[in-house]
Amino acid sequence: MKTLLYFLIIWVGNLYVLTAAVPHGSLNSHLHTPPDEGMLPLNQLKKRQLQSLGLQLSDEQIFSTGDVSLVQALVRVGGCTGSFVSAEGLIITNHHCAFGAVAAASSVGKDYITDGFLARTRGDEIPAKGLTVRITIDFEDVSEKVLAGLSDDLDPARKTETIRRNVKHIEEEAKGARPEYLHEVSEMFVGRSYVLFRYQTINDIRMVYVPPRSVGEFGGESDNWVWPRHTGDFAFLRAYVGSDGSPATYSPDNKPFVPQNHLRVNASGVREEDFVFVMGYPGRTFRHYPASYLEYQRDQLLPITSETYDWLIAAIDRLGEADPEARIRLASRQKSLANVTKNYKGKIQGLRRVDIIGEKRRQEDELQRLTLPEAPFTHCAGVIRSLDSLYAMLAQDAPLKLWLNNLQQNSPTFSMAMTRAEARRQWVTGKDSSSDSLRKLLVSTVIKQNERLRSGYEPRLDTSFLRFMMRAPSKWAAQHRSATVESLWKQYRLGDQSDAVVGAWLAKGLPYDAEQLMGTLNSNPEKSLRSKGSLDELADVMVLEVQRLMNREKAINAQLSVLLPQYLELKLALVGDEFVPDANSTLRLTYGHVRGYQPADAEVQTPFTHLAGMQAKSRAATGDAEKEADYLIYGPLQEKMQSDRSAESIPVAFLYNLDTTGGNSGSPVMNARGELVGVNFDRAFTATINDFAWNEQYSRSIGVDVRFVLWMVDEVAGASHLIKEMGVVR
Ligand code: ASP
Repeated sequence: MKTLLYFLIIWVGNLYVLTAAVPHGSLNSHLHTPPDEGMLPLNQLKKRQLQSLGLQLSDEQIFSTGDVSLVQALVRVGGCTGSFVSAEGLIITNHHCAFGAVAAASSVGKDYITDGFLARTRGDEIPAKGLTVRITIDFEDVSEKVLAGLSDDLDPARKTETIRRNVKHIEEEAKGARPEYLHEVSEMFVGRSYVLFRYQTINDIRMVYVPPRSVGEFGGESDNWVWPRHTGDFAFLRAYVGSDGSPATYSPDNKPFVPQNHLRVNASGVREEDFVFVMGYPGRTFRHYPASYLEYQRDQLLPITSETYDWLIAAIDRLGEADPEARIRLASRQKSLANVTKNYKGKIQGLRRVDIIGEKRRQEDELQRLTLPEAPFTHCAGVIRSLDSLYAMLAQDAPLKLWLNNLQQNSPTFSMAMTRAEARRQWVTGKDSSSDSLRKLLVSTVIKQNERLRSGYEPRLDTSFLRFMMRAPSKWAAQHRSATVESLWKQYRLGDQSDAVVGAWLAKGLPYDAEQLMGTLNSNPEKSLRSKGSLDELADVMVLEVQRLMNREKAINAQLSVLLPQYLELKLALVGDEFVPDANSTLRLTYGHVRGYQPADAEVQTPFTHLAGMQAKSRAATGDAEKEADYLIYGPLQEKMQSDRSAESIPVAFLYNLDTTGGNSGSPVMNARGELVGVNFDRAFTATINDFAWNEQYSRSIGVDVRFVLWMVDEVAGASHLIKEMGVVR
């Protein structure tokens, strides 16, 4: 029960995949570009000898167990990265990382999104709702312990289960020894290498300075994932702890956290070709996956998701035009949908432009030759063909799975119906009818959903989204329509008639009152779960479909967990031993240079933008209704520029050939001495395919320049107390 309910709540873009590794060595232009590529785990630093490239710190100054190093100045904040820039817990990260908290604190009369937020005193700092931070304390290779008890003849499902059990045991044991920390085992290479990370968590995070949206998001969606860029995507937060110095939930008595280390801010910034490096928590990459997995992304995940999100974005736009309150309430959600869809479009375009999949296929031909009779890896024979057929099975299920996923995430009515249906199923089959655990779980599930409903429920959006989604299955190719979907769509006349059917479902308003459900759940669970109409009936069947898909997926994943290590073993043999694991939200370092690039024939991009360019973009957009709002210049910034013409030459953003992905948002960009010179916030459009393969030709990341940050804070916002706190002399 727990698994399925949990799954029903957070079945979020689980990409059916396990991790694998980055190619170095032979091959061809797009799969191989040392030396700068790689989101290096810190234990792989030594091999790269960064000092010979210009780094003026020792490896121990970056990380050394038990000693003060740069690691203690780094935080994972929400899904992003940040860094301490003062001894009093001041954190710098991106505007877009704080955006959810800013939106949550805003209302029509107190619109921090539009106007920005500045606390002039500590007492004015307000909770950054939803944000917590983590600091990496240390890490330890636990591969042997995780893989203990595995033998080659163990069947795939048992192998996966053994690994899962071992991981749980290691985490529990670690927690027993150091209960004050969070302990997490991360898979670095599937079936090969595992690392136990220890984190300190801080829960009381507050907003200090967040620039207005017209600065933090200058260029809006038009410029998102684009270079040249003039976006001041930065924000300041502060970490607070209890009066005894240990992590605590919000209390006005809490004190600023004193980090073991913080970054010095270098007000002079960097120049073209300077050595720079970034430390942070990159989320996820897929560089060690086979060609068939990339085909699954190209043909299923990317287009289906971006089409659905485009629809939602346009629907929110329409709603927001007529209802400013709904616009604010849905702003954060719309922003993240827009961010994902543009990234996915970049990937689709990139996969057309650059033949990564073809190159992988050619590499796989070479891998296959290593498994021929008499060759050294006969035990891996057939691995590519098996991977192909497993990913083909996943591709076959993809439209239905993604459809269910998108409904679960974006339609509270649908996800509520699914939760109730799953609970009903458990009840009716009698499996848990006597157990309290089911009830407890339901109550917590309902509470979660209730929170979601309260914070973002928008019945108009829900209705039109359900209508849009109920039309979709009729358009799927035959191989994607299961027998169940086929018969349900006929039975409920979904497709052509779906608008009317959805209208009838929702005619009585939100059909599932979470408060009421929770109330009756304890007193009369059976009654509270009784089916209340055709949406419930549909959900009853869909829950079985989810179960069917999950079982299939589980079996496929078990096989992948055996095949992917073999795939990796072959790649290791082919390309040598310099393997960097795919990103997995653990701490990494990437390095390179401040450098422009040539994304297309005759198109040269230089690495710095300036305030003058911001003005030029804004002037060019005048009169273009769609663009004007994106390129509107913040009034006080404009005035400051007019009163001081020299400001025009202040660099706003810069470009570098580092290897970053989502999760690196907010990461400090550091110079050779480890001083903060910028804050990473994005990649160029061509670099969205970084996630599949990094390449010096098309991979460029974008940061906001520290010189702009300091100018904005000091001269536009008038927050000289923050400049002083950071110890900056300008
Ligand atoms: N702007 C990006 C994000 O939203 C950062 C990146 O992926 O490079 O995740």
